Amino acid sequence: MQVPDEIHCVECGGICGRLTHRPDDDPFQPGDWVAYRCADCLERFDMQLENEDPEEFKPENWTGYSN
Ligand SMILES: [Zn+2]
Repeated sequence: MQVPDEIHCVECGGICGRLTHRPDDDPFQPGDWVAYRCADCLERFDMQLENEDPEEFKPENWTGYSN
């Protein structure tokens, strides 16, 4: 399944780059975890991919971690 390379930070509205990468021949699957880190506030976001519907890829489902 496809996941975005960048998402908007739910904390500050900045751009979060994806930390988790998969090779082209071993793509993300439902149930995998994907992490992003915001370039502006350094907040980290982790979410578990639940299904292949991109409409379910919603920031409010994510868990943020402060470091
Ligand atoms: Zn941020």
